[in-house]
Amino acid sequence: MRLPTLLALLPALAVAAADLPAGFFPPPPDAPAQGEGRCLTCEGRGTVESAFSDTSIGEFGDTVRPPCPTCKGRGRCIRPLTVAERERLQRQTLNAYEREQRAARRTPIGAGFMDLDAAKALTPEAHAALAARFPKRCKTCLGLGQDACRKCKGRGKVERRERVEGEDGETRTKTIDVPCAECGASGAVPCRRCDGFGLAKVCTRCDGLGTTEVEAKRDTPAHTELCRSCKGDGRR
Ligand SMILES: [Zn+2]
Ligand SMILES: [Zn+2]
Ligand SMILES: [Zn+2]
Ligand SMILES: [Zn+2]
Repeated sequence: MRLPTLLALLPALAVAAADLPAGFFPPPPDAPAQGEGRCLTCEGRGTVESAFSDTSIGEFGDTVRPPCPTCKGRGRCIRPLTVAERERLQRQTLNAYEREQRAARRTPIGAGFMDLDAAKALTPEAHAALAARFPKRCKTCLGLGQDACRKCKGRGKVERRERVEGEDGETRTKTIDVPCAECGASGAVPCRRCDGFGLAKVCTRCDGLGTTEVEAKRDTPAHTELCRSCKGDGRR
């Protein structure tokens, strides 16, 4: 990143941090959509098998294995991560974050955690507002909103058997890869639990507010309290 761009961002970052209540530890961001992974063109081998011979590389009739054009022979490259890879990354990050928060004996609020004393000092409204700002993630997709396509198992392509006629006039069947129509070749479909939004289900007891109104009784006036079903998260 160029320096002027970074400097322009700094005030915004400072405001975002100052804006959070003391003792609150926001959840980590979602795993990136791109990253380094095994090259999918050569399956990590670094070479591709050439169907025809090139006499400038080897003897006529040899099978040549030039470096893979996608990864330049490295076997790994920067590319969009598959659903499974992204999910693994997300799980690692969230597990590490949660372990750290639990070890510090903090309590969950939405997708974040807070020091116990600071959490106890929040009004029910402030607690619910914080949970709404960092909403609880969907348990199935861990907040990514996507699921691996079942038809192609996340590969984005499916095998199709085609009949081809050879030079000798014989018909043979050949297996070729074609883009998966189910997922538009992306390998991903929206998560069915959260319809792709990546969020936990809205609590039906409080309609997602996180708080409920308690009517006045003989010795207690009417007041607002944290919803007992979702513990103030508005989602569960
Ligand atoms: Zn490659
Ligand atoms: Zn989901
Ligand atoms: Zn598919
Ligand atoms: Zn609720």
